Amino acid sequence: MGIIIDGKVLAEKKREDISRRAKAFADKYGRSPGLAVVLVGEDQASAVYVRNKKRACIQTGITSFDYHLDENTTQKEILALIDELNARDDVDGILVQLPLPSQLIEEEILVRIDPSKDVDGFHPYNLGRLLMGEPSLVPCTPTGIMYMLDEYGVDIDGKDAVIIGRSNIVGKPMAILLMMRHATITICHSHTKDLPARVKSADIVVAATGRPHMIKGGWIKDGAVVIDVGISRTESGLVGDVDFDEAINHASLITPVPGGVGPMTITMLLENTIVAAGSHVS
Ligand code: NAD
Repeated sequence: MGIIIDGKVLAEKKREDISRRAKAFADKYGRSPGLAVVLVGEDQASAVYVRNKKRACIQTGITSFDYHLDENTTQKEILALIDELNARDDVDGILVQLPLPSQLIEEEILVRIDPSKDVDGFHPYNLGRLLMGEPSLVPCTPTGIMYMLDEYGVDIDGKDAVIIGRSNIVGKPMAILLMMRHATITICHSHTKDLPARVKSADIVVAATGRPHMIKGGWIKDGAVVIDVGISRTESGLVGDVDFDEAINHASLITPVPGGVGPMTITMLLENTIVAAGSHVS
């Protein structure tokens, strides 16, 4: 029976460290690190995420500036807001909650954010730096996972890691981070042949597809570490990509959903805000 990785406990520990650094920053520079959160429209899940982010900011002494824009906001209006936030000295991080309404062009908006304030790590400049092995602001979910692996003493060097999902925000940066730590990487996706065999070969499995319980317990190699990023809303509540009840019989370590990767993702957003704030003072 595997050990359950407790994302809430790890997140709490990391947030204590972030609180200390936010306070030290405020004492030294006379202002708290600041995070601007931009929400467009009325998407319920996005509203919940934004509320959680705001709560986490308050808990750790980061000032959050909230912008809730109308569903019909134009591209020009949101770009003007980004320009204003880029110019403000009290805003260290800018987060635009995704997904955006269909009239807005996501790529153009994310590229408009000053890379030094790109606390989501989605700007091509920051993703490029990561690819070059010079990470600065790195997407929060993969860095949160690296933190979890380190806290649980997982040896990554030389291990076979299989990542299922190739998004720019989870799968691809996850692969780079694990490769930087000398794992051998396989990235799987919707066109991958014989996914069960790929998963079976892995010492570390990271599942990020958004397909509820698609990774079966029998696919997991005995002793593997299983990280479940997926979040799907089903009739029985929030579930991950991994069939947890089966997989825990094979894994040595496994994250639950909820209570695994999710709390760490928000925490790393706070971490990135502190890092960004440090780059805005001399
Ligand atoms: P995405 O939709 O951009 O990408 C999904 C990926 O899964 C794609 O690369 C696709 O090729 C792959 N995929 C889909 N079906 C597949 C299949 N049958 N076999 C193999 N691969 C398949 O998703 P994303 O933004 O990377 O998010 C993935 C999941 O993680 C979602 O459920 C999302 O809600 C969740 N998520 C959770 C957190 C968190 O903090 N816990 C953060 C980000 C995303």
